[in-house]
Amino acid sequence: PGVRFKWQNPEVSIIEGLWARGDRRLNRLLVTAYNKGCKFDGWSDKFRYRSWEASFLDEGVDIDFFTTRVRHAIEPLPWDHIDTMVSKDYLISEWNKATDGVYTIDCRNGICNQCGACDFETIEPRVFDDCKENRVKNFTQDGHKPKGYKKLKISFSKLDQAKYFGHLEMVKIFIRAIRRSGIPVKYSEGFHPKPLISFEDALPIGLESLNEIFYLSVHDNVKPQTIINGLNIHLPKGLSILNCHFAPKKPSNKPFEPVVYMATSKYGFFDEEKMNHFNMISEFIIARCNRKGKIKNLNLKEMVINLALLAPNQVRMILKSEPRQTVRPFEVLEKVFGLSKVEIKQVAVVKQ
Ligand code: SF4
Repeated sequence: PGVRFKWQNPEVSIIEGLWARGDRRLNRLLVTAYNKGCKFDGWSDKFRYRSWEASFLDEGVDIDFFTTRVRHAIEPLPWDHIDTMVSKDYLISEWNKATDGVYTIDCRNGICNQCGACDFETIEPRVFDDCKENRVKNFTQDGHKPKGYKKLKISFSKLDQAKYFGHLEMVKIFIRAIRRSGIPVKYSEGFHPKPLISFEDALPIGLESLNEIFYLSVHDNVKPQTIINGLNIHLPKGLSILNCHFAPKKPSNKPFEPVVYMATSKYGFFDEEKMNHFNMISEFIIARCNRKGKIKNLNLKEMVINLALLAPNQVRMILKSEPRQTVRPFEVLEKVFGLSKVEIKQVAVVKQ
């Protein structure tokens, strides 16, 4: 119990080692392997080690020479021409210290080891204390000691460049901001405790939103309003906390509400005829492929509640957001208005 076993295909490791330690003598190997069909090797279903082996033979490449051979410290390396400011002599001395088990003092504490990276005019080690200074100092109610945890409902906007954050990336950003601001949150149990945080919706990349919701469990003596400032100091441009209050104890049993999106095209107009056609017909079947590659036919009319053209380049969509009945605005732009992937990228879509 508690042991997780991870492994990697050793043949992939051989190729990785070869390209990590190889040099310009491998140029021809790359072309030969490519011509034998070695493409997208990072995807296990496309990885063809036999083709690599055939290429090694064709080009006379000795794998061990590049990977497992013991190298002398003074041997020239393929990246020696790149000036990192740190001299090779220094790196060799560090290597020797490492093999002898001798530590090098952390130079951020004031003692320079003369590695060569700093000129002490424009480059020097600096330790930032911003996080400590920006910690929320007074987020609890005076005189109240925490008795447990309560759930907060926090709303935020995701606009402008922040639309390019993927969902997991955004979750990490929030967790980092929570840690930096010093908010006392509840952590999960187990070997890798993480703040208990859950988002109502996982926005796809490229979609902006005026109002998203996430939930966070915090000490019950926290003043919700202080959380807004505490988090906003540490969030990047485009992500902003709007509101924060304690969530009701009982989960809401309200039916799923439709979502309104505003799509504005930067360079073109939406085809009104196509939209009118969609609004008039009773069935609009689209094919969707699930993660397992299985194709399912769905009636888009059952998921689109309303489409309206507010201006030649602006369309308002009211879409269902229910389990197995969710459609994203990008899919409507593609299927109903016939926009290509490139054209869709020129459309700013904001969840209202
Ligand atoms: S202070 Fe600069 S030059 Fe000195 S050891 Fe540290 S990084 Fe290298």
